This record gives sequence, C-alpha cells and structure tokens, in this order.
Amino acid sequence: MRERSLKICRLAVPALCLWAANAPDIRAGAPRAPEATRQAQGETIRVEIFNEIQKIQIELESPGSVTDLDSGETRRLTPNQVYEVEPAGLGQIHFDNWILGSHLRVSGENPQKPIWLGGRPYRGSLKLRSASSKWLNIVNELDVEDYLNGVLAKEMGENWPMEALKAQAVVSRSYALRALKRSSNNSFDLGSDTRFQVYDGTPRTEKIERAVRETAGEVLTYKGDLLPAYFHSCCGGHTSSAKTIWPDSEPVPAPLSGVADRYCRLSPHYGWKVFLPLPAILSALKPDYPEVNKIYSLRVIQRAASGYVRWIRIKTDAGMLDLLGNRFRQILGSDQIKSAYITRLFSYQNGFAILGRGWGHGVGMCQWGAKAQAEKGKSYKSILRFYFRGAAIDHRANL
Ligand SMILES: [Zn+2]
Repeated sequence: MRERSLKICRLAVPALCLWAANAPDIRAGAPRAPEATRQAQGETIRVEIFNEIQKIQIELESPGSVTDLDSGETRRLTPNQVYEVEPAGLGQIHFDNWILGSHLRVSGENPQKPIWLGGRPYRGSLKLRSASSKWLNIVNELDVEDYLNGVLAKEMGENWPMEALKAQAVVSRSYALRALKRSSNNSFDLGSDTRFQVYDGTPRTEKIERAVRETAGEVLTYKGDLLPAYFHSCCGGHTSSAKTIWPDSEPVPAPLSGVADRYCRLSPHYGWKVFLPLPAILSALKPDYPEVNKIYSLRVIQRAASGYVRWIRIKTDAGMLDLLGNRFRQILGSDQIKSAYITRLFSYQNGFAILGRGWGHGVGMCQWGAKAQAEKGKSYKSILRFYFRGAAIDHRANL
C-alpha cells in the first residue's frame, strides 16, 4: 500500500487551562446579562459548577431567598433547612414543594455565611437553570477574591508554603480576570474543572485567605495587558513554550516562552512511565481515525528546545499519522500520558512503553517548582519573575 502522510494539526485543548479562556465546547445558555448589570455587580465572576446534574440539595446558613428570574417571584428560604432541587419537566424546576420557572437565583442575606450545595460551601449566589426536562446547570456568581480562595484550596491546599500560595493567587487572579474580560459566553465565564482552574466551593482556611488578601488585586501583565497566566503541576525540568503546546493559538507573549527549572526535581511527578497495549491505542484513535486498524511504530519526529514533543509519527496500515505531542496526549488520555515531555518511546511486548517527565501542559508556572522555591526562601514575586520572564506584577486597578 502506498503510504500517505496525514499531517493533522487539530485544535488543541490544553490539559490544565485554555489558551483563550473560553472552552471550545461552551454551551449556549440564557441571554447574557446587559453590560450595565454586570458592571454594577463589581468584580463578580460566573463559574459553572455543575453541568447537567439530575438532583441536588441546597442548604443556607443564613436566611435567604430563591427568585424565579422568569416571573420575578421571590420566596423566602429558611436557614439550616435542606431543600431538594430537581427539574420538573421542561421549563420548570421543582424546588422542594414549589414548582418554579426554568431560571432561579438562590442567595443568602449574609454574604459571610455560605450556601451549601451537594455538601460543599459556596459564597455569593447560585443561578440554576433547567437545561432540559432531566438536567440542571448551576453557576456560582461570586466575588473574584472569594473565588480565588476556592481555587487555591483545590490547586495547592493549605499545607503548601505561603509564598507558593501567594504566587498561585496572583497567577489565578490574572487568569480569572482575563477570562472575565474576554468572556463571550451567555451563562458563565469559567468552568470549574482542569480545563480551567479547579474549583468546588470556598472552604475558609486562614492561611489561604491570607495569601489572597496579602496579594489583593495583584496581577501579571505584559506590555500593559493582563498576561494569560497558565500553570501546571510539574514541568519535568523545563517549562514549555505555549507555542509548542498550542501552535494554532494567538501570538505567544514572551513570558510564556519557557524556562529551565531545576526546582521541581523532587516532585513525585518529575518522571513517569506508562505501558500502552496496542488495542488501547487503536481504540483511542478510532473515533478520529476509523481507517486505522494496525499500528507498526510510534516515533518522536520533532521536539522543541524545552524537550517537549512537537510531533509524533504513528506508522499505521492506513499510512503515516503525524500528531502534535499535546494532541497525542489528549487522544491517549492525559491521565495516562501525563505530559507531552516524552523522553523515550519504544515497542514492548504487544504495545508501547512511554517514558516522560512532568504533569500537565507545562506552560507558565510549575507548581512543584514554585513550592520548592518557596521552601528555599524565595518570595512570591521572585517565583513569578522566574516563571514569567519579562512580565510585570501590577495592580488590576492600573489596567
Ligand atoms: Zn518545574
């Protein structure tokens, strides 16, 4: 059979954060609030916390209310009472004993007291929408600084050193505010999973609140604009240029070009290996490449100076398949192929063994490197300057 070369470069979906802050699979939703309304809310961010959930329990710690956004009708909610919420057919929501419209807002009178949702505490208010007769979508609307408390709790945790937490606060604030500025989605600005920043509520911990408070308003900028401040778990010894991971995206600002990082060597994710049986590779390729039935070899054909893989060539019975390193990772599963920093790849029994370094897309701040630098006494500003060379730390009020 004549070999054909399939140089396929499809839109990359970053493992940890999206290049343009808006997910490509963003769902259509309710009409976007008028700009004046959103501005009046101040620095409020809308985070989608549940997408298509069947049923959930809501409990408030302070007196509150549920407002039917279609009719304007408001009902009082009693503190410490559990309300069962689920769709009640098309266009309606069953809120305990009430049948309400398809768009609801739940809020408490005391913003210091959380709303408990599915056993997790949330600040701000909740917007519920019946997406169909079976599913609810839920968006948490809250102050950006409150949101950061939740992000830091999930992305690092209170056991991490203070200067690493502060560096993460500045990075996550920059990321969130940029998403807010660029949001074009009707219903929310950010999701809450690893494609964005992980968020599942705002448990209060003194140390994390301090990290957010002591960096209040600080953001990373480059040439006067908010920097797309990405981060990942561990870079494996060199952070990646954004261009290597997302070559089709907009021009890469200099601070996202990648740096050598000796600090994350002790991370449990510094090195990894995985064995992929041939049937697993074939079934992973099947949805996008149904013509492939056999795989003869896997080979790295182009690597960036950082060590991250640009292109991998798969020799198949349907010809040569060239995949971006990051795309290869997504297809095979980003939990299996922990990064595109693949160091060795060889055939082994009925499959392939793959060795690599780091965890995540590798762009921006390496969290494990930031942790080690903080433990060595570096300040959060020094950590940020290390990972984002040429970027400035500014106050968002100056932008
Ligand atoms: Zn690193």
